[in-house]
Amino acid sequence: MEKIRPVIGTKSATRHILNTFGLHASKRFGQNFLVDPLVVADTVDAADIKDGERILEIGPGIGTLTQGLLEAGATVTAVEIDKKLPAVLNKTLEGYENFRLVEGDILKTDLRAVMGDAPFKVVANLPYYITTPILIELLSRNLPITQIVAMVQKEVALRIIADAGTKDYGSLSVIIKYHTTPRIVRFVPPASFLPPPEVESAVISCAVRREKPPVADEEIFFKLVRAAFGQRRKTLANALKGAGFDKEVVKAATFRAEIDGGRRGETLSIDEFLRLADAYCAAKKEK
Ligand code: SAM
Repeated sequence: MEKIRPVIGTKSATRHILNTFGLHASKRFGQNFLVDPLVVADTVDAADIKDGERILEIGPGIGTLTQGLLEAGATVTAVEIDKKLPAVLNKTLEGYENFRLVEGDILKTDLRAVMGDAPFKVVANLPYYITTPILIELLSRNLPITQIVAMVQKEVALRIIADAGTKDYGSLSVIIKYHTTPRIVRFVPPASFLPPPEVESAVISCAVRREKPPVADEEIFFKLVRAAFGQRRKTLANALKGAGFDKEVVKAATFRAEIDGGRRGETLSIDEFLRLADAYCAAKKEK
């Protein structure tokens, strides 16, 4: 008869596991364990896992989401920083063959070496203290990632999906949308975690674009975007000047891109930022 496995992601199972190993959720590592099987299911569903599909999980914790992924047929590689957790995962995920644990800091892990060159998806209930660096790191390395499904703070999710001209729109919206097509899968209340975080959360799904929007110089594009949002109260021209961009080249570039330098950066769409980057590179060459 097939063995019936206890579900890790319930309040009682999580408490029991933490008590058994004498553990407390670590604030330093942003540990808020999922204790809501429906949220686990919705997160796994959003990743649309095919049998054997390769998943990178960031911060498996005690194995809650990992179990959902493995049950869905995924082959999971998980990177965990907390040295106390491998012993727990050994026990909670005992018997699952398609699980591999890599101990270390996700921001210092060579993901190309760990995951190789074949496509993979990322699924994670992210530690909130490093959400943005993780997302930027995953997307800027040209890794063969096809989709990122992540639990993030609700406020960050709203910033990611925000459109130009809205209060949540910022460099994160532009950078994530340059690389992916993001959507909010669902909102998640604090009660779905143990301990409950002080903020609301949301699961986002970012389908990575096969082809990124063309731009003459990606680095200049990102620099322009960061500079334009760096001083939100300033006009585009002044914000860029303040960030060290050449005043004359900026003037020529805004003229060439047909973008009014008197506008605020936060009103520019991604297409306009791309146009501005191309125009800046062209104007600089001509100078
Ligand atoms: N996946 C589990 C769940 O859903 O219940 C735990 C999620 S908890 C919000 C975040 C996890 O990320 C913790 O296990 C924490 O130890 C781990 N973590 C924190 N910082 C990390 C880092 N820099 N690299 C890898 N893992 C990290």
